Amino acid sequence: MKLGNFELLALSDGTFALDGGQMFGVVPRALWEMKLPPDDRNRVRLGLTCLLVRTGTHNVLVETGIGDKFAAKYIDIYGIEKTTTLPVELAKAGLKLEDIDVVINTHLHFDHCGWNTRRENGRIVATFPRARYCVQRGEWDHALHPTERDVASYVTEFFRPAEVQTEFLEGDQEIVPGVRVEVLPGHTRDLQCVHIESEGQRACFISDLVPTRHHLPYPWIMAFDLYPMETLANKHRLLPRLAEQGTLVIFPHDPDVPWARVSDENGRITAMPLS
Ligand SMILES: [Zn+2]
Repeated sequence: MKLGNFELLALSDGTFALDGGQMFGVVPRALWEMKLPPDDRNRVRLGLTCLLVRTGTHNVLVETGIGDKFAAKYIDIYGIEKTTTLPVELAKAGLKLEDIDVVINTHLHFDHCGWNTRRENGRIVATFPRARYCVQRGEWDHALHPTERDVASYVTEFFRPAEVQTEFLEGDQEIVPGVRVEVLPGHTRDLQCVHIESEGQRACFISDLVPTRHHLPYPWIMAFDLYPMETLANKHRLLPRLAEQGTLVIFPHDPDVPWARVSDENGRITAMPLS
């Protein structure tokens, strides 16, 4: 997909599955099961979409999927299916691991930073040897000291071995020309989404503010969110703007549609098929 002078590629790291109740918060199963039918363990299948932005000067990778370091027990619990992997997808796009200049993590939950690191000769090392890894400082600190409520969402070995290559961000900022992050608290205190703009064309990696297109309706908010009322307020702030500007929205976990443009009809936000 072309975006002005940039090239965007949606790269998959396979799929996983989470409890449907956790994914849809206060929305009853009678409603969400019509959108995503659960399996016999009440889990819904989810995508693991990462975004590669080729600006012509930089290769910027947004998110790194779930990785390959989970033990069998968690592969079962989270229904991880490696139909493909991020490194395979990068290779298909003609890129080596050392070609990645910047990695942006919107937050450090295990399904967003899995390939920040990889195993090599029994050690865990940074996957992208030349990259600077960009993460909010508040998210990093929280990931190392989570609460009892969200401790299961963080796996230290997925991100900490890349610490020396990590740039700790403090709030909104430009990462490279045309790529900037905006902090939108709710899912976590320091969740950031990524805005991409070239030649007046816009895209937004919206992260877990809107994990799938089924989460576009305002009250469809995950039970995982630490601050759900802030998620609600930030959806109201951001989504009408994205609709008005014709922004391409990239969803991290939609099982069927990695990206879409959205429309706002009298306060109802819906995904439009790409023509
Ligand atoms: Zn996620």
